[in-house]
Amino acid sequence: MEDNHKKALVCGAGGFIGGHLCQRLKDEGYWVRGVDIKEHEYRKSAADDFVLGDLRDQRVCKKIVSDIQFDELYQLAADMGGAGYIFTGEHDAVVMHNSATINLNMAEEANRTGIKNIFYSSSACIYPEAIQLECDNPGLKESDAYPAGPDSEYGWEKLFSERMYLAYHRNFGMEVHIARFHNIFGPYGTWDGGREKAPAAMCRKVAETPEGGEIEIWGDGEQTRTFLYIDECLNGIRRLMESDFLGPVNIGSDELISINNLARMAMSIAGKNLSIKHISGPLGVRGRSSDNTLIEEKLGWRPATKLLDGMRVTYKWIAEQVKKRA
Ligand code: NAD
Repeated sequence: MEDNHKKALVCGAGGFIGGHLCQRLKDEGYWVRGVDIKEHEYRKSAADDFVLGDLRDQRVCKKIVSDIQFDELYQLAADMGGAGYIFTGEHDAVVMHNSATINLNMAEEANRTGIKNIFYSSSACIYPEAIQLECDNPGLKESDAYPAGPDSEYGWEKLFSERMYLAYHRNFGMEVHIARFHNIFGPYGTWDGGREKAPAAMCRKVAETPEGGEIEIWGDGEQTRTFLYIDECLNGIRRLMESDFLGPVNIGSDELISINNLARMAMSIAGKNLSIKHISGPLGVRGRSSDNTLIEEKLGWRPATKLLDGMRVTYKWIAEQVKKRA
């Protein structure tokens, strides 16, 4: 390892965003260690050193920071999934226990070893359910987080961990940067199996269904969301880490779309005409969008990539996966 390289530790490197982040940091000249409980499912990690380990185990957390003085830690490891995993209630205890333990361990190890710069990935799921009951959500501002009332235990754990990292900042001077991601999507992410998010699910359903067929959508499909393409998410993470702004700050898009229209977008990219059947299923909030005033004010930047452009790239990759599997 050359000593003039900045050294970054990426927790959750075997996951969707962590996998892309390792590549991005490598492209920027970092030396990168990635850690995850599993290998990346869809490609070889770009990290210089990839450690398979369970971050719930404090001995593992100690070991990964013992031989190198890291300049930066990106903590993205979490027990998460799409609506099918988080909103049924069946995984609540496990989700809270696993993610909180990882964060407790890593905050402590980062502080103990003096890692200067820490990034923590929170989520739009921390925002109160009560202000997301309408489809035409005006955009969630960071200050809307309190009084708190997330609609999932996943969101409550994220809120707890935000507060814990901020407490480490206040009490120990740890430099933390917290982002609340809003539905990040793109290639090399989960696209089937129940943990996939709406853009990947729509691309898969459309890719799997022959012309004239039917796809299923949970609920009436009028629920709205915004989706941010992965490259813009990485731009936001890196800008936040280079700044002296702690956050929490939204990293999300403000291009609101209903799930029905997202499905139609995937159909038009594929050049297919399919009908939509609405079925019951876990839904989450009715409408959610990102207000990007704060990020623009603090970092002089807001994401600009259009949903359609990100969906084109994502559809192409998922259609290839569907073909390979067939
Ligand atoms: P992901 O599930 O692909 O990545 C998370 C990674 O954490 C996985 O590879 C998983 O194996 C790893 N992990 C879980 N438990 C672990 C453990 N005990 N030890 C080691 N590794 C463990 O998810 P992602 O989409 O890449 O999300 C990254 C982060 O961003 C997560 O913290 C997530 O909560 C947050 N986030 C993501 C989105 C999104 O739209 N993708 C939105 C809001 C917040």
